[in-house]
Amino acid sequence: MIDTYRPQWHRNAACHGQTSSFFPKRGQPIDDARAICAACPVLDQCREYVTRVAAPEMYGVWAGLSERQRRQLRRARRASST
Ligand code: SF4
Repeated sequence: MIDTYRPQWHRNAACHGQTSSFFPKRGQPIDDARAICAACPVLDQCREYVTRVAAPEMYGVWAGLSERQRRQLRRARRASST
């Protein structure tokens, strides 16, 4: 089911099978997920996807970014494009 909205490049993602690190409980550190993302071969594609294409309500850590960081990036991009 989840794969229906994930793009082709996600097949090479370093986060396969790492769900507990990427969907932390509130207040839980995300350092483990960030470390995995930093070494991911598709980090650039992922960051582009989650800040431009993907639905803003996606939760968890994506591209080494928390939900708040992704919101801030989207806002900054919108502001710079107007
Ligand atoms: S950058 Fe992080 S969230 Fe994105 S595909 Fe790679 S490991 Fe997964």
